Amino acid sequence: KLYNEVQDLKGNIRVYCRIRPFLPGQNQNRTAIEYIGENGELDVVNPLKQGKDSHRLFKFSKVFSPAATQEEVFLDTQPLIRSVLDGYNVCIFAYGQTGSGKTYTMTGPNISSKEDWGVNYRALNDLFHLSQSRKNTIAYEVSVQMVEIYNERVRDLLSFDTSQKRLGIWNTSLPNGFAVPDASIHPVTSTADVLELMNIGLMNRAVGATALNERSSRSHSVLTVHIRGVDLETDAVLRGSLHLVDLAGSERVDRSEATGDRLREAQHINKSLSALGDVIFALAQKSPHVPYRNSKLTQVLQSSLGGQAKTLMFVQLNPDVESYFETISTLKFAERVS
Ligand code: ADP
Ligand code: MG
Repeated sequence: KLYNEVQDLKGNIRVYCRIRPFLPGQNQNRTAIEYIGENGELDVVNPLKQGKDSHRLFKFSKVFSPAATQEEVFLDTQPLIRSVLDGYNVCIFAYGQTGSGKTYTMTGPNISSKEDWGVNYRALNDLFHLSQSRKNTIAYEVSVQMVEIYNERVRDLLSFDTSQKRLGIWNTSLPNGFAVPDASIHPVTSTADVLELMNIGLMNRAVGATALNERSSRSHSVLTVHIRGVDLETDAVLRGSLHLVDLAGSERVDRSEATGDRLREAQHINKSLSALGDVIFALAQKSPHVPYRNSKLTQVLQSSLGGQAKTLMFVQLNPDVESYFETISTLKFAERVS
């Protein structure tokens, strides 16, 4: 018997907005966020305009205020994450400008403190606990992959071969037709295993970059969790997968200032984020043609976007007025797909 805990989830695309707090030293009075409603309403105010014209209203499945804890945010994603053990494919990603809290939400600021853990550690921890509690009915195997997509190249972050070879999108096709990136797959049996692997991944991500934060803001990182469960009574096999994605910063790069590598990076980021937007938009519209082939990002995520798959987007915002125009552009992206 397969569990189903996601009946309360309507639709396959959810959008949560999370606003990060002001950082120490930032002027708290200068916020562009006017109002956060209980039911996902958000009112953003344009600092250059006056009166009614200055307000723009948005509506999400949920808005997390700057006071929301990592635990609260996780609890709202938990049913979705748990559905992976029932054989669903799930994609959770964080979208927003650099500095808006994408990494904070997905990974957390400090992985040595459990309280700070972001969605990905909590998700794996929860999956291990839940799979343990079902061990008399279903035997689960969990394995992970971690890749980075930079300038339309996919790189294995968990490979011990540091030659940074270019990867094909997929060679390995699982029996049920799910494609996976041609990157190393690591079986894991505990949260400790995952922490160790993710540390390796984060270290590999830094290789060749002047500063981790520099590089990480211009590449997408994708942690994939593969689940295989065997029903001990009937021998039926189920498979699920979870993609946890920390996207490259969505900020527009000034074409007159960027040149060379910087411009190329910016063009690749633009292209892949719009490809992602186009795919989700097509899915939301129930369009018969979904343009997965337009970027490496959407190819890597294909199995967890569309069909029976469930998608959750975190729209990350900076609270300050200086970020107003980036905030609006982020919100427009979200509006299009929700
Ligand atoms: P991004 O990954 O989008 O570039 P980060 O996650 O690195 O942004 O966040 C930028 C800064 O803001 C970091 O110093 C981070 O610790 C802090 N920050 C982000 N979100 C929160 C939050 N919800 N609570 C406290 N600090 C946060
Ligand atoms: Mg980041």
